[in-house]
Amino acid sequence: MTQRLPEADNAAGVLYVVATPIGNLGDMVPRAIEALQSASVIAAEDTRHSARLLAHFSITTQAVAYHEHSGPERTEQLLARLQAGETVALISDAGTPLVSDPGYRLVRAARQAGIRVVPIPGACALVAALSAAGLPSDRFAFEGFLPSKSGARRATLAALAAESRTLIFYEAPHRILATLQDIAEVVGPERELVLARELTKTFETLRGGPVAALAEWVAGDSDQQRGEIVLLMRGAPAKKSGDLDAEAERVMGVLLEELPVKQAASIGARLTGLKKNRLYQWALDRE
Ligand code: SAM
Repeated sequence: MTQRLPEADNAAGVLYVVATPIGNLGDMVPRAIEALQSASVIAAEDTRHSARLLAHFSITTQAVAYHEHSGPERTEQLLARLQAGETVALISDAGTPLVSDPGYRLVRAARQAGIRVVPIPGACALVAALSAAGLPSDRFAFEGFLPSKSGARRATLAALAAESRTLIFYEAPHRILATLQDIAEVVGPERELVLARELTKTFETLRGGPVAALAEWVAGDSDQQRGEIVLLMRGAPAKKSGDLDAEAERVMGVLLEELPVKQAASIGARLTGLKKNRLYQWALDRE
């Protein structure tokens, strides 16, 4: 069933947070076109960049710049327009605003002022990459861009090395090789990675494997050091059952033969004195 955009009430406007394509204009969703066309003003990360998109969809709404260097006065101006009942549509250069893109201050201010904020979902590079990478996707963490300097990058990677969730990074093409080499050294050469490049575009490439092998491939093919890149890193293996003592393992083993995990963890906690969450996680890891 299609749902049209909600009507703005007369007292205050609506802030639409509008996702735009990350390469392929065919990914522009109809609600996004409608929101941009019907808005009083479009707050765009880069008005010149967005002019092409707007022209392509024959959107004639006026666009004003709203980017990370816009001072608080620009947020105030947009807020005043919203409070006066106007509709503002926020877009970034590509993908979903606020995801490694400007917009946080405006959304925050609007919500604090009681303005209705409506997301118009669409393309987002991290979600597109995750959906096709074939890495565990039940739990993941998005880290944005790693630090550009190697020392800080390696420190960040060291802090993330034991993370068991799939980790997702955005990376600049001129740093991709150095980053892969840092991951191989800090996290280990065998850690599984997927490099997702130029998603939705002509040279879309998804390649996975141990990080050392990926680094070698990228080093030998300069085309892989161009375009836009998402890096996904398989999480560290979950801790082995060895972190429970033998008696607790035995108790949990018996309980799990008879009961669902949640109940086994709850009763196991009473019997062993260990934390229920820890036993629950132990049981999940064991499955
Ligand atoms: N807001 C955007 C989103 O929703 O994904 C991300 C903006 S961030 C400034 C730009 C970064 O996103 C790029 O450097 C790259 O890491 C990633 N990215 C954007 N488009 C991409 C694409 N088509 N393929 C792969 N990565 C992309």
